[in-house]
Amino acid sequence: MGRNGKRIKRIFIIINIVIVLVISYFAYNEYLKSKDTKKELTSIKDKYKVLLNDSSIDDDEIKEINDKINDLEEIGNKTKEKMAEVFKLASELESKIKKNETKKKIAYLTFDDGPYYNTYNVLKILKENHVKATFFTTNVNGEHCYDNKNYECHKLYKEYAKDNHTIANHTYTHGWNKGLYSSVNSFMDAIKKQEELIKSETGIIPNIARFPGGSSTPGATKGKQMKAALLKAGYGWVDWTASDGDGGYIANTDVAWSNFTKTIGDKIEVVLFHDYDKKTTAILPKVIKYLREKNYILLPLFYESVAINKG
Ligand SMILES: [Zn+2]
Repeated sequence: MGRNGKRIKRIFIIINIVIVLVISYFAYNEYLKSKDTKKELTSIKDKYKVLLNDSSIDDDEIKEINDKINDLEEIGNKTKEKMAEVFKLASELESKIKKNETKKKIAYLTFDDGPYYNTYNVLKILKENHVKATFFTTNVNGEHCYDNKNYECHKLYKEYAKDNHTIANHTYTHGWNKGLYSSVNSFMDAIKKQEELIKSETGIIPNIARFPGGSSTPGATKGKQMKAALLKAGYGWVDWTASDGDGGYIANTDVAWSNFTKTIGDKIEVVLFHDYDKKTTAILPKVIKYLREKNYILLPLFYESVAINKG
């Protein structure tokens, strides 16, 4: 091969490497926590190996490319480390709040019953306002969203994960009046099934649960057994301390707003909303602004939080 031919081949290879790098970077970001990512990364690595075996690329270039692959793998770990740091600081803040050592307060925004197609609007508002929240997910919508039958609802699990919201377990069936609470086994089956769904869509194993209808719905005796079973399965559980009433009928956004503001006052609030509710979505920017003005820091729930009941 002539000098020119070699040069062209070399440029061709470098262009290919750049393309693969760019594609892999975006692909990795896009599906950061999914199982597919690992498969994709392996196939990208295989492609690299072919390119790297070409003798026209020198050692420095190989090193640089290898460093970049390692960087890609680091993104996932760094996010986990960052979230662990956030939760550690949140724990410290919670104990300061409990001891009256700070004027700061915490609000945990939580959204139940998703995913829905409307979840996209909720996620957009949270992102625009730099808020991390908690999503109590269920499979009530199945694979297709109730509010957009053409849309595969399961895709939204990756969106929750990508934005680093806490993904929590609200049972697979949500059927609080359809046998969910008939026995500890039926309840735990619905917990396990939802756990598997979350895990298969995101790679995340949830450790926070919420009882559909609230923790008092199964009744005292059964409820106690279910809470013990949750703890044994590695879960804490949480109800809520504030809401805009969107679990029931709310006439308009003014009513939603007034319901919400009336329930806010504690130093640590767990606010209940629903992904599907358009009135909640409409007041959400105002909710975030209001809470921040009242000195609340908005955080996603984490297992160690004082808000999470263990047993
Ligand atoms: Zn629910």
